[in-house]
Amino acid sequence: MKSIYMDHSATTPVDPQVFSAMIPYFTDMFGNASSIHRQGRYAAQAVEKARGQVAALIGAAPSELIFTSGGTEADNQAIIGYLAGNPQKGKHIITSAIEHHAILHTCDFMVKQGYVVTVLPVTPQGIVEPEVLRSALRPDTALVSIMHANNEVGTIQDIQALAGLSHEAGAVFHTDAVQSVGKIPIDVKAMGIDLLSASSHKLYGPKGIGCLYCRQGLRINSLLHGGGHERNLRAGTVNVPAVAGFGAAAELAAQRLSDNTAHLKYLGRLLLQGITDTIPNVRLTGHPTERLPGSVSFCFDFVEGESMLLMLDNYGVMASSGSACTSGSLDPSHVLLALGLSHETAHGSLRLTLGKDNTAADVDYVLEVLPKIIEQLRLMSPLG
Ligand code: PLP
Repeated sequence: MKSIYMDHSATTPVDPQVFSAMIPYFTDMFGNASSIHRQGRYAAQAVEKARGQVAALIGAAPSELIFTSGGTEADNQAIIGYLAGNPQKGKHIITSAIEHHAILHTCDFMVKQGYVVTVLPVTPQGIVEPEVLRSALRPDTALVSIMHANNEVGTIQDIQALAGLSHEAGAVFHTDAVQSVGKIPIDVKAMGIDLLSASSHKLYGPKGIGCLYCRQGLRINSLLHGGGHERNLRAGTVNVPAVAGFGAAAELAAQRLSDNTAHLKYLGRLLLQGITDTIPNVRLTGHPTERLPGSVSFCFDFVEGESMLLMLDNYGVMASSGSACTSGSLDPSHVLLALGLSHETAHGSLRLTLGKDNTAADVDYVLEVLPKIIEQLRLMSPLG
């Protein structure tokens, strides 16, 4: 049976070169990076090499990165850590309606700590308009957190403009760049980013490792209490094989960025065009041009997302409807609702996220089976 993976925004396979880079740190060089002896030094060297590789991918200095257990922890660390470390900065936070739950639920937690959160609306294409941010900023706004690229619909924000406005108002700017790091160019300095979250498993690295970029001079508190690892900002023995893998993945992503982008844009266009040409009553979700390369998302009228996924899976195609974290729940995606779609329409969502190993033949196959699946589901639907 065919096996076509088109769910790269959920996670990516570990690249074979990344896997090779990790292996020695499970076996021959198993040391604790805090140990003084030779084994410890090998491990510490691997961690510092990886820090340099990841920093280079986003234009940061290595000393500005803290390794975390992934994007979720980095998001929590950014928001809770910054606000706890700077209580004098004010009690107001701004975020957007289409953030990942790692941000939205952390903001809910901060409300319980006495903070006030403004959740900005987005345009029907998923853009946070700078003017909307400008009018929400207040003298007591401590932190603005707006994601770089959306995980469900791929829309990319104008981070430079949003960060600039935040700074004018005296607020610090965080971006959840879990979906964009390694996929589109990022330069934290040029873009004016103070805090940035990244996750290795979205860029062909291992799961369970990520990082927080924290601009030099910015004070944040640690979430975890324990040893003095990561400059006292993240207690706990460092997961050296995972860090080494993240570093290798970051270096490969930097080397391959332009080739991968061209490949994904080409396949994405074929897929998008093919779907709109062959299937009636379908609408693209997200922005038509300001979107992640290879991220294709639609809503099909009169079709239920879960059924679509199961039938695609029967044909060997792996995709998702909304984000992987919310699948299994019957609630429509908060992102699609924030774009102004109705509950019915949001239920018919499909996200196909392409990766470097997808081919034009994979796209042809999806274009062969998807129209049949949609037709069949519409025949069965009481809504059709
Ligand atoms: N933020 C965004 C935009 C994501 O897409 C994800 C994961 O899907 C996360 C945060 C959480 O990252 P992690 O899985 O590394 O905890």
